[in-house]
Amino acid sequence: MRATITRYHMLNFNDHLAIAVSGGKDSLSLLHILAKMNRRRPKTKLTAVTVDEGIVGYRNEALAIAAESCLQLEIPHHVVSFKDLYGFTLDEMITKARSKGQKELTACSYCGVLRRKAINIGARQVHANKVATAHTLDDEAQTVLMNIFRGDITRLAKERPVTGEVHPLLVQKIKPFCEIPENESALYAYVKKIKFQDTPCPYASEALRNDIRWMLNRMESKHAGTKFTVLRAMDRLRPALEETASKEAFKTCVECGEPSAGDLCKTCEMLRQIR
Ligand code: SF4
Ligand code: ZN
Repeated sequence: MRATITRYHMLNFNDHLAIAVSGGKDSLSLLHILAKMNRRRPKTKLTAVTVDEGIVGYRNEALAIAAESCLQLEIPHHVVSFKDLYGFTLDEMITKARSKGQKELTACSYCGVLRRKAINIGARQVHANKVATAHTLDDEAQTVLMNIFRGDITRLAKERPVTGEVHPLLVQKIKPFCEIPENESALYAYVKKIKFQDTPCPYASEALRNDIRWMLNRMESKHAGTKFTVLRAMDRLRPALEETASKEAFKTCVECGEPSAGDLCKTCEMLRQIR
C-alpha cells in the first residue's frame, strides 16, 4: 500500500484524512493500516466517516462495529445519515420508488449516488482535506468494466486513484487500496483479528456489479493478473479520456448547492422522482 500511496502522490504529511468506514473488512483493514502508519506521521489527522443509509437489519450492526474499531484506535468517528441529509432512509426511498412504479433504478443505483454525496459532505463536516476510501483492485477493475458496459465514458474518465480538484465543495478522494486485491485485504483483517461485518446487504443481489465480479473472478482464476491488467489499461487510457471529460465543467446544483454535472444534481433528481 505504501508503494501505491507514493506512486499516486496520495498523502502529504499534514493532511486531515477522512476515512470512509462502512464496517466491512476492506474499510476496517484500511482504517487499521492508516492508524498504524499514522503513528509515524503525527501531523496527519485521521477521522472515520460512516454513512448510515438506513437499511434495517444491516447498517446498525456495521455502525456498531465501525464505532468499536474507532474507539480502540482512538480515532474520532463521525456518522452522516441519509435520513438527516435527504429526509428519507434508503429503505423508505425504495418503498416510495416502488409504490410509484419506478422499477428501472435498483437500490444500489440510489445508494451509490447518495452515498458518494454523503461521504463528501461528511468529510467537509469534519474539515478534512482528503477522503480515503477502501476501494480494492477488485472494485476498481469492476468499476472500469461497469462504466464500459453502461457506456458511461464520463464516469470512466472520472474514476481514478486520486481525484482532481474540480469544484471547491468536492473533497479530494484517494484510494490507497486500489492496487490491493480484495482477498489480501480480507486476509489482513483475518490475520489481525479485526472484527468486521460479513452479513451481506439485503439489496446486494440487485447489483450489476455482482455479475461483473463473478465474471472477473472467473477470468482471474483462468488468466492470473486480469484485474491488474484492467487497472493498468485504464491508467494508460485515462489521459486521452480526461481530455474529453475536462471539457465538462462542474456546476452547482440549483436545489441543494452541491457540485453537479448539470443544473440539478443526480441526488436532487432522484429525490424529486420519489417525493
Ligand atoms: Fe448500497 Fe447496494 Fe451496497 Fe447495499 S449493496 S450498501 S444498497 S450499494
Ligand atoms: Zn442537488
